[in-house]
Amino acid sequence: MTSAPTAPTVLPDQKKIGMVSLGCPKALVDSERILTRLRADGYAFAEDYAGADVVLVNTCGFLDSAKEESLAAIGEAIAENGRVIVTGCMGEEADAIRAVHPQVLAVTGAHQYEQVVEAVHTHAPPSQGPFVDLIPQPDIKLTPRHYSYLKISEGCNHSCAFCIIPALRGKLASRRIDAVLREAEKLVAAGTKELLVISQDTSAYGVDIRHDSRQWKGREVRAHMTDMARELGQLRTPEGHAPWVRLHYVYPYPHVDQVIPLMAEGLLTPYLDIPFQHASPKVLKLMRRPANEAKVLERLKSWRAICPDIAIRSSFVVGFPGETEEDFRYLLDWLEEAQLDRVGAFRFEPVEGAAANALPDQVPEAVKEERYARTMEVTERISAAKLAAKVGRTLPVIIDEVGEPDEDGDIGATGRSQADAPEIDGAVYLRNVPASLAPGDIVNVTIEDADAHDLFGALA
Ligand code: SF4
Repeated sequence: MTSAPTAPTVLPDQKKIGMVSLGCPKALVDSERILTRLRADGYAFAEDYAGADVVLVNTCGFLDSAKEESLAAIGEAIAENGRVIVTGCMGEEADAIRAVHPQVLAVTGAHQYEQVVEAVHTHAPPSQGPFVDLIPQPDIKLTPRHYSYLKISEGCNHSCAFCIIPALRGKLASRRIDAVLREAEKLVAAGTKELLVISQDTSAYGVDIRHDSRQWKGREVRAHMTDMARELGQLRTPEGHAPWVRLHYVYPYPHVDQVIPLMAEGLLTPYLDIPFQHASPKVLKLMRRPANEAKVLERLKSWRAICPDIAIRSSFVVGFPGETEEDFRYLLDWLEEAQLDRVGAFRFEPVEGAAANALPDQVPEAVKEERYARTMEVTERISAAKLAAKVGRTLPVIIDEVGEPDEDGDIGATGRSQADAPEIDGAVYLRNVPASLAPGDIVNVTIEDADAHDLFGALA
């Protein structure tokens, strides 16, 4: 089960909820919201299946492999506890779930917070204890306290051929800018040192609400990525430091150019997560990708001229229907030229309901496998060279974990540089740190060694 939010005190007849959270950071944010709401309704949380009155499984339904994982998790929760409510992306396919697991108590879809909470109320009615609602508590977080995901919108207005997110999650629905900033401010005041801005399409934030302006700290602020980035850059931790602010899922629309100077000024973490997915104009067109324009390489150069330390992460799909050897070579050449810092590669996998499934010229599995291996070879070589160039430099590192002393009394720690987002990028391994070092500390580290993914060093 998801390591549960700790309930400080459990009242005698308080109902306990178990939670299994699968899928992407966006699903994790949904789990946090559901749990926060349930706690406000008087529920406590179980650390294991046995202690739960009901188990919630927040599923992912993006790829067929994710659906299998979701069904397996539901099966495990039924075997271990028996009383299971399913929610999340795969909840849109209630029939498929019930066909395999007819015992589930209820199935609700993504973002149907009200329905999930209602289902919990039906199957495990909350205790009516007199003290339950009186003590205000901070929102529940499933991520470590020192970093938090900040979800700015739901859904997406695009229709990429391989993706069913718009069908699952609907059209773009942006949150009000003041609500986003208030949440960010609250998180930073509660100890968050790193904010990870997420959505399906961060550059499109506010398009659906016509970039509606709101008053924030006596200023008019628009629901727009650049305004939001500038305001997030003004936040300060209780110790007076600027939190790291990372932008994820940014499509290279022209206004992205405006956030690069904010990175150079230190207001934003010099990091951009741009899911390019391919480089060949022909394949991008087949994929129906947004912001598919030819000048990306030139823009990468100009961004690096403004902010030399900017780290660019991206993901790519190989073996998309219609991708020829020539298209694939175009991608490899583009990668050599682009010199991206972090790359995730995926073999194309048909997703039930996606338009790409019906495209002609599907690529055989063996060819996908071979192209994947070639992509990894190029991107790992580039990553190794980029990381090797950091040896000898002193970089700020945020600490994620501090170990126990070994037989010589040395303590190791794991952290991340500004080029590394949690869960998806590399790590910085530190030797010989003081026992007083704690997760969330931001320290200067001298880099002593590097491999293809990670850095190694010691406190400067
Ligand atoms: S931009 Fe494309 S891949 Fe991303 S969520 Fe929207 S449709 Fe899916």
